[in-house]
Amino acid sequence: MSETEFTNSAQIARRIAELRSELPEGVRTIAVSKYKPAAVIREAYAAGIRDIGESRIQEVIEKRQLLADLPDITWHFIGHLQSNKVNAALANVDWIHSVDSLKLARRINHAITSDVPSPKLCLQVKFAPDPDKFGWEADELLRDWDELEVLDRLDVRGLMTIAPLGLTEDETRALFERARQFLQELRVNAKRWSLEDLSMGMSNDYRLAIAAGATAIRVGRTIFGER
Ligand SMILES: *Cc1c(COP(=O)(O)O)cnc(C)c1O
Repeated sequence: MSETEFTNSAQIARRIAELRSELPEGVRTIAVSKYKPAAVIREAYAAGIRDIGESRIQEVIEKRQLLADLPDITWHFIGHLQSNKVNAALANVDWIHSVDSLKLARRINHAITSDVPSPKLCLQVKFAPDPDKFGWEADELLRDWDELEVLDRLDVRGLMTIAPLGLTEDETRALFERARQFLQELRVNAKRWSLEDLSMGMSNDYRLAIAAGATAIRVGRTIFGER
């Protein structure tokens, strides 16, 4: 482990306090601790954070074990979920923000039982072309909508999106506003889900996301420093 992985706890607490002072009530701050040791999660917890984001299931499993004395952490999965990790995800996370295909949604639905309830789910949508990212294009999601709503065990809460790197500030703002509008359009069509949640905004762009109506931001570097 390199020395830069040890972030000073006073620094983490200060960054969290600064972030808090900027956020309106009701926006959930998910501290993204991917590739960082479990010890930094403990520091964030001590500073009041209860929502933790990770992008690999194996990392969630390891960190949960190390942090078993902190039972009220809400674990958010934000990475691409491979089919063979669905069962492990259902056993270890409270939210999956990155449901990125009908196929994955079907897998999750299939894995839910009376003993293994649905996590809260966000559907990942791309509002700008981004070949490096998973997710539906908006029109594809509309096409798949009826087939999604048939998956009656899923607890779908809303949408997640990532603004591609390299957009201008105006383009990023427009993308987040499009996401909010699209969520509202979906609500009109939705028969089963109330779709309250909009997960968008990272260290580079969370202010724009909040201004556009994000209900949850996912920030890593702002809290924990560079990875
Ligand atoms: C890594 C990651 C984040 C956090 O990114 P930062 O730039 O560190 O804030 C948020 N969302 C997703 C999907 C990520 O993979």
